[in-house]
Amino acid sequence: MFGLIGHSTSFEDARRKAMELGYDHIAKGDLDVWCSAPPQLVEHVNITNPSGKSIEGAYIDSCFVPEMLSRFKTARRKVLNAMELAQKKGINITALGGFTSIIFENFNLLSNQQVRNTTLEWERFTTGNTHTAWVIARQLEINAPLIGIDLKQAKVAVVGATGDIGSAVCRWLSNRTGVGELLLVARQKQPLVELQKDLGGGRILSLEEALPEADAVVWVASMPRTLEINSSKLRQPCLMIDGGYPKNLDEKFSGEGLHVLKGGIVEFFHDIGWNMMALAEMEKPQRQMFACFAEAMLLEFENCHTNFSWGRNNITLEKMDFIGEASVRNGFTTLNLRSFLQAAVA
Ligand code: NDP
Repeated sequence: MFGLIGHSTSFEDARRKAMELGYDHIAKGDLDVWCSAPPQLVEHVNITNPSGKSIEGAYIDSCFVPEMLSRFKTARRKVLNAMELAQKKGINITALGGFTSIIFENFNLLSNQQVRNTTLEWERFTTGNTHTAWVIARQLEINAPLIGIDLKQAKVAVVGATGDIGSAVCRWLSNRTGVGELLLVARQKQPLVELQKDLGGGRILSLEEALPEADAVVWVASMPRTLEINSSKLRQPCLMIDGGYPKNLDEKFSGEGLHVLKGGIVEFFHDIGWNMMALAEMEKPQRQMFACFAEAMLLEFENCHTNFSWGRNNITLEKMDFIGEASVRNGFTTLNLRSFLQAAVA
């Protein structure tokens, strides 16, 4: 059995959904009430891959909302309680979705293995970051040529280059894709210098310097909502892959030749018959999902019950190959620029 731990995109959204699900007493509560609300297993699901293998899964809402991010103890408790519930339900492999994997890493929850009388078994959990990194890299490879970008000549900026997903994408782009030039963007200098050494190339730039030079930009950092970008200074065409969370780049960029694609999203080959992705505002919630969630499904389909993506900067090219092949074999495709693909097929 696979599991997915998720959360609503905002407090307002969470209240609305709780009302729809019949949890009226929680729905009407204020943020303090929500802070003490326990996680809920809200949905069971059964999915079948193209070769007819069926697996069972469950969605656990951690009852965390982004408004709790500044409440360190609450955020930590929400994630640990949801993990405890997943383990108690006997789920073999559970993906930590949305902010939950970031909270796990940033708040060093590895040192909190004991939750009441449950000792968390780390091998039952995965961040899903290996699949996310592979999907984002493939989205760049598939979609850049569709809008006239030759990746072998192109400058590709990775914003969040030193992160878990960003560093994996950089390794893939320099070793597998072979892009013209990699532009490495993050706030702290030292990790960038180490990454550059590790890659044997790439140019370190600030965001303001990188954007006007880039033919394609891979965003794998949560960007502040207040970030202002002057779209007129960007190259045309320019492909923006929005791999961060929340996915809000389309609110910031618009204009001739600018193409924003939601990054780290995959589509299953048939409708699943679940409600959980409607909560995540997917365009086709019956078959689209975050790649990190899909990683738990893939590991279950492949009988690979291990914490496949774990810790920071441990994603190897071999692991990306494994999860990428499993993704294709089990009926997933990456989300692409629809209108261009349709025109190319016609
Ligand atoms: P990490 O915390 O490991 O990395 C974040 C990276 O972003 C670091 O390189 C950090 O470096 C950089 N960064 C943060 N803020 C800024 C900023 N303001 N400007 C420039 N760089 C910045 O995170 P992950 O790699 O685990 O995740 C990255 C993003 O991907 C997150 O937003 C996450 O929510 C999202 N994600 C999306 C998924 C999906 O869509 N399927 C699945 C999983 C995660 P520094 O601190 O030096 O700036």
